[in-house]
Amino acid sequence: MAPTAPLIPTDFAAPVTQFGPDFPFAFDDWIAHPAGLGTLPAQHHGAEVAVVGAGMAGMVAAYELMKLGFKPVLYEASRMGGRLRSQRFEGTRHVVAELGGMRFPVSGTAFFHYVHLLGLETRPFPNPLTPAAGSTVVDLEGVSHYAHTLADLPPLFGEVADAWAEALQADARFHELQDAIRTRDAVSLKRLWNTLIPLWDDRTFYDFVASSKAFSKLSFRHREVFGQVGFGTGGWDSDFPNSMLEILRVVVTRCDDEQRLIVGGADQVPCGLWRHAPSCVHWPAGTTLEGLHSGATCAGVTAIARATDGQLEVTDTWGNTRRYGAVLTTCQSWLLTTQIACEESLFSQKMWMALDRTRYMQSSKTFVMVDRPFWKDTDPATGRHVMSMTLTDRLTRGTYLFDNGPGQPGVICLSYAWMGDALKMLPQPVEKRVKLALDALANIYPGVDIASHIIGDPVCVSWESDPHFLGAFKGALPGHYRYNHRMYGHFMQDAFPAQQKGLFIAGDDVSWTPAWVEGAVQTSLNAVWGILHHFGGATPRDNPGPGDVYATLGPMALPE
Ligand SMILES: Cc1cc2nc3c(=O)[nH]c(=O)nc-3n(C[C@H](O)[C@H](O)[C@H](O)COP(=O)(O)OP(=O)(O)OC[C@H]3O[C@@H](n4cnc5c(N)ncnc54)[C@H](O)[C@@H]3O)c2cc1C
Repeated sequence: MAPTAPLIPTDFAAPVTQFGPDFPFAFDDWIAHPAGLGTLPAQHHGAEVAVVGAGMAGMVAAYELMKLGFKPVLYEASRMGGRLRSQRFEGTRHVVAELGGMRFPVSGTAFFHYVHLLGLETRPFPNPLTPAAGSTVVDLEGVSHYAHTLADLPPLFGEVADAWAEALQADARFHELQDAIRTRDAVSLKRLWNTLIPLWDDRTFYDFVASSKAFSKLSFRHREVFGQVGFGTGGWDSDFPNSMLEILRVVVTRCDDEQRLIVGGADQVPCGLWRHAPSCVHWPAGTTLEGLHSGATCAGVTAIARATDGQLEVTDTWGNTRRYGAVLTTCQSWLLTTQIACEESLFSQKMWMALDRTRYMQSSKTFVMVDRPFWKDTDPATGRHVMSMTLTDRLTRGTYLFDNGPGQPGVICLSYAWMGDALKMLPQPVEKRVKLALDALANIYPGVDIASHIIGDPVCVSWESDPHFLGAFKGALPGHYRYNHRMYGHFMQDAFPAQQKGLFIAGDDVSWTPAWVEGAVQTSLNAVWGILHHFGGATPRDNPGPGDVYATLGPMALPE
């Protein structure tokens, strides 16, 4: 919540987690259970399963499959870690630019299961108006406001925050939903959520705001400020065209609140799983994914087809073809037509419709390394920090400041932008992006010479220009619930015709909460259940898996 007070008290015993709302299954409990995820029939021990993509979804699946006694075979076309891409600045060890995921809500408890397993250090993310940011500047229509908390901003910002909280409660029964999540009351949660699905699937986030009683009694300016400053982590006007259901999921599960960064880089989570040696069925002590792969993944996949013996045939960039009993793809679904020649009969036409109609959002980030966290210097004239975490309607939109500790260079994310603002950057080379950002920030901080502090080379990304992604993450449009539903439930394959069995999908765009890594992890765990089931395996009686309860707890279907 950028300018808002917390919507809920933070001292409840039971926290809000990403439990549902579409599929209220406790993934965190499932993976932490001492009985493990299940048993693979002994004749399949060592069976190879192809996993396409070594991002978080692919790595979690490979790791859990290895523990069950499978031999996962990872294919990666670009960089291990995928959209958890921590680019180290040249010459440094731990000074990173987080080009993809960078702030992880503590409500993402399945993701944090792996963070804790690997013993990684985390810290509060310097989001606007949080103590971790130190100070925040909100600069709109040429006027800057310096603040530590919401209370320091002019009353209009508080009115916006109150209107948003009021609209959520009035039109989405926010508190009842969160109470059901907090107490893991799946029945109440489904009852509440299932009434909202048909109401809001066809309508946009903007529609929700504009048609709410709470905002209707305020000025257009309030709505505009809400779009520019958002609720939690920055401007949300880029999400205004998205389905309101997607926004509700984010706020109700607190994705946008209490976020932490991974010290030294988020890519340590997937890369850590690659090197971690868990206790496994079938494999000797000390077995790791890295060891099973002799140190490196296979190259990118170019084709997936059904072989004459019924197995799935995977071909890589170098023309090597191997056969598998099951294949899991975790890349963005558009890549199943642009990067991979995926035989059409492997999915139903309804599934192809969903895979191809998926809509991605654009996102760009530009980072520089600086000699020290100079922004903490005090301006003698004002007594304020010389520079702050900045939210603005200017080109940069969000500027984030990272203090890496004593004796270490600092890092500035000069600009983190989405959609139209990201497209403005798309054709620009990195130096031009830095110059544009510095020029915009000079209007806010006329006395600060940011450039004089820059060391090393700047780093930038535009996910939409990368052929291995084609966009940053899914942003479902109105009317997309049915597509999400088909993709999310695809791991339940018992009723599929034989030619469609054995190929599984997981990852950010299969999830109900795209742009949050927890969703990628949860869909990957669904796929693990699906693959285990496909090979005749079963879950322990006291630790049922997602597929065991899908018939009762699974997302509601809308009529076709
Ligand atoms: C700009 C940005 C900001 C984000 N911010 C946050 C955040 O703050 N918090 C948060 O929780 N989440 C955030 N996310 C979302 C999070 O990063 C993703 O949900 C998560 O990393 C997705 O993991 P994945 O495994 O599903 O996909 P990916 O990480 O995309 O993994 C898929 C892999 O498949 C590979 N691949 C593609 N084609 C092929 C092929 N033909 N053969 C083999 N491999 C292939 C890709 O190279 C990639 O490595 C952000 C994402 C982006 C882009």
